[in-house]
Amino acid sequence: NNSFDEDCDYLFKAVLIGYSAVGKSNLLSRFAKDEFCLDSKPTIGVEFAYRSIRVGDKIIKAQIWDTAGQERFRAITSSYYRGALGALVVYDITRRPTFESLRKWLKELREFGSPEMVVVLVGNKSDLGQSREVNLEDGQSLAQLEQVSFMETSAKENLNVEEAFLQMITRIYEITC
Ligand code: GDP
Ligand code: MG
Repeated sequence: NNSFDEDCDYLFKAVLIGYSAVGKSNLLSRFAKDEFCLDSKPTIGVEFAYRSIRVGDKIIKAQIWDTAGQERFRAITSSYYRGALGALVVYDITRRPTFESLRKWLKELREFGSPEMVVVLVGNKSDLGQSREVNLEDGQSLAQLEQVSFMETSAKENLNVEEAFLQMITRIYEITC
């Protein structure tokens, strides 16, 4: 998995999962290109983006995969997860059903992902606190129960986005390198 690349020391694959319109594609574009789009188009099929980061004296190139809800692309599920060392599991703090659906995503992760995959639970759209339907504590409790990290983010306001990805990537580095 840690294949050598001419301008980096390690190449890590990670995936974004979660209900549609929770902000997966905008989290990725914020992290990879520092871009946000208010009327972004739904993702069709699979897309990915890269970003290189420095951890200690090593350069890690993160290849982050993004997709529309896997239920529409069942056939790609196993290839989507294949070789992935990390996952950001995203919900929208303003839509309770996106949080309730997390068990399904976590189950799919366990089914298709590798057991040692680094998982970060992400409650996105923290800028919309006035429409909040999921408390911070709910996210924290679920993360504790599932033994994964947790963070609330805003792709729009660029809050904690860098932190969520970097936490996942540095943890992968610690585990695998
Ligand atoms: P995806 O289907 O999970 O990839 O979701 P998108 O990234 O396409 O985002 C769905 C919608 O939510 C778009 O209209 C985005 O502009 C909006 N959105 C994404 N992230 C945020 C955020 O942090 N705050 C707010 N207010 N809107 C967001
Ligand atoms: Mg998308």
